[in-house]
Amino acid sequence: MKYTFTLPNLEKLLNLQDAYNGRILIISLIGKSAYNLSGFKMASIGHTLPVEAHRDRELSECLIDGSYDEENQILYLYLSSLLDTDILIKEYKHLAERCEVERNCDDFLTVFDDVKSSFARYLLLLMHISHIIILVHPCSTFDTNYIQYFKAVDILSQKMFDKISESLKTVNNISSDWINNGRPCTPRLIFYFEHCPRNINNLKKLEHNLEDKIYHILKKTRIISTTGCSLFAIPLNDEFVYISEGEPSDKLFDAVKGFLLDCQPGGVTQIEAPYSNGPKSEKNFQRFLEVHIQQAKHKGFDDTVNSGRHQHSHPSHFELPSLKVWVEVVQNLYDLIMQNKILTPLCTDTRFSEQRCLKVLPLALARYQEGLPSHYAKSEHEARLSIALALFRAQARGPVFYQYASQLERECQGYWENGRQQCETASMTGNPCKLPKHSSDQEHISGFIYKAVCDCGRKVGPREDPYTAKQANYLFYQQISKECQCGKLERISFPIFQPSIQEYKAATLNETEDSLSVLSDKSGDLIPDVGRSLIRQPSTTEYLPGMLTLSSPPGLLPVYSSWSLVCLGASSLYSHNLGLSESHHPGFLSSTNYLLPWDVTVYSKSKQNWPNVSKYTVRGRRGVHSTGTLPQFTVKVFIGVEYECSSGHRFMLASPDRVLKATPGSIVKDTGHKVAESDMPLYYPCVCRAGKFAQLMRLHVVTPKAPVHCTLSPKVQPAPGAPIFVSTLNGPIQLTRSAYWILRLPYVYVGDKEYYNQNLSGKLLQGVFGVTESDQ
Ligand SMILES: [Zn+2]
Ligand SMILES: [Zn+2]
Ligand SMILES: [Zn+2]
Repeated sequence: MKYTFTLPNLEKLLNLQDAYNGRILIISLIGKSAYNLSGFKMASIGHTLPVEAHRDRELSECLIDGSYDEENQILYLYLSSLLDTDILIKEYKHLAERCEVERNCDDFLTVFDDVKSSFARYLLLLMHISHIIILVHPCSTFDTNYIQYFKAVDILSQKMFDKISESLKTVNNISSDWINNGRPCTPRLIFYFEHCPRNINNLKKLEHNLEDKIYHILKKTRIISTTGCSLFAIPLNDEFVYISEGEPSDKLFDAVKGFLLDCQPGGVTQIEAPYSNGPKSEKNFQRFLEVHIQQAKHKGFDDTVNSGRHQHSHPSHFELPSLKVWVEVVQNLYDLIMQNKILTPLCTDTRFSEQRCLKVLPLALARYQEGLPSHYAKSEHEARLSIALALFRAQARGPVFYQYASQLERECQGYWENGRQQCETASMTGNPCKLPKHSSDQEHISGFIYKAVCDCGRKVGPREDPYTAKQANYLFYQQISKECQCGKLERISFPIFQPSIQEYKAATLNETEDSLSVLSDKSGDLIPDVGRSLIRQPSTTEYLPGMLTLSSPPGLLPVYSSWSLVCLGASSLYSHNLGLSESHHPGFLSSTNYLLPWDVTVYSKSKQNWPNVSKYTVRGRRGVHSTGTLPQFTVKVFIGVEYECSSGHRFMLASPDRVLKATPGSIVKDTGHKVAESDMPLYYPCVCRAGKFAQLMRLHVVTPKAPVHCTLSPKVQPAPGAPIFVSTLNGPIQLTRSAYWILRLPYVYVGDKEYYNQNLSGKLLQGVFGVTESDQ
């Protein structure tokens, strides 16, 4: 009769008849198995064990199945673990998940410590409840990996010796020798090799050589010793190495072959437990094992001369227990030994990796910190971090590599963030603030200083890289005007917000489908239900937060104007022969300092004759044509479209794609038509440096004396799709006659939601300059 069970559930064994008086021998099978054997370690005795059963069960790393051969009173224990290739493959996905979840990496070795520790604990248990342990190798060489398991188990066994003895005391009818030794005997370890090397003539000799080698290794590593106790013993005079002659079995083939044999008349062969019905050759593991079994049953083992725990006068303890006692012992020890703790002696890979990483980590950190300024930008931090990581990657090794690599990252990040971060807030021209990270009370400084020209164009001064539109478009010009005539010149000012109360505030804008609308529109003087076409009084309690655009909500005005319009004086200030003088307009590149003559034909709406018109058309008069129904006359206006670069260079364009260039002798061949009738670029390459752009900053207009109105209606679209920025929503601005006017454009363009960086598609829309007949 065969009884199968799984540790520690052994209750049903106690129902057996001879549970109380029998003397049982326990044989355990441990080791590894090759792929495709379904965890079968040994074909020869494996069939007696329910190894198939655990294939459908949830296996938590290790499992001991057992079977009891009642007839021979031999109890077999069979250890399945992740060292069995099939089981490892089956469990691999689960292990990979554990790596990911528990260790946050994909290195299998990080969880392999658990696997090894678990195996070692099962090994310890088996060393305490078995008489014979068969260590199975799927190959033909001794696997020296077991040495570290044996050592770890030996250490653990010595550590736990007192606890084990103590726990055994509670077992009924146990012998005092067992309690004193912690186990019924020092188990005998025998080695089974599944694979025979090719072309071996004398297998016996090979086995004996292997025995010598194993003995030598175990002795050298002090796993067995002549002086102290050993975890296990190897027999002195009996063979303890068995190399199987058979090829690794193909289970399916064996099953089919067995089935065919069984189908033949008289082919049913008796299966004798515990051995299979495999072909019996001269060499037979059954016979090999039988020697040890018989010895155990009759004399017991006394391998102590070399390796016993008691090398003193009395022979070592050997006991064949009753099933009852053994079951109770197993149940006691199982709970004691099976703890979910890692055995450090087994963590060689992780310990090596950890030591290596700990050694490299400070080096990598030092590399990061090498020659660091007091504070630095994110890009600098990232560049240094990648250098430090490269150093770490080159020298650190093993399963905890990622864990320490991310520690390095955290430490570098922490080092940077601990008072070494640069503010880096971008200025209006895109430069980072160079100060250490600071509170919002302190002003940003990028350290860049540009050259810039005042409203009227006469004074050049330094401009600090601006951080606000107000600084860029208003405050700078306010400041520089103090050193110039600008402040005193006649101006046309643009409408701005006029507060009626003290607690005025920025309007809250809500972006609707196509335009902005005011959320808090409580102002009493607004006409309800107005469209944009209707004029309404501007709010005196809320101002427009951004700059004025065609899509700004009606009724809101900015607190300051980003534009300026000054009159330099009489039109005679400009001489087309001399151009703009360096003293009045410093910084112009040579031959570009001219305005463009623009002849405009004006049609008179009134039927009134213009006898005196010649008096007004000071320049380039073509006379009055009386042929048409409407009287018409031509006036000459001088216009200029001025660009300014951040180094203070200035120049005029003659057309959207060409710099104005007077020929020697101050002859300007271009006229103002192209400039007046085209979109002009907002940015144009400056000659000073490749890639440097000058920005459209001023429009010059010298108006004629004729009874006409010259008007300006500047509209700037700083980027495709951007809002169109204007100086006023009140239509074209009328300039006075016979005067030199300069419109200064904004330096930066900031909408309600967005700031527009230098965009080479930005443009001044055509139709800026206009001339209409005067009403007078
Ligand atoms: Zn700053
Ligand atoms: Zn000025
Ligand atoms: Zn330049």
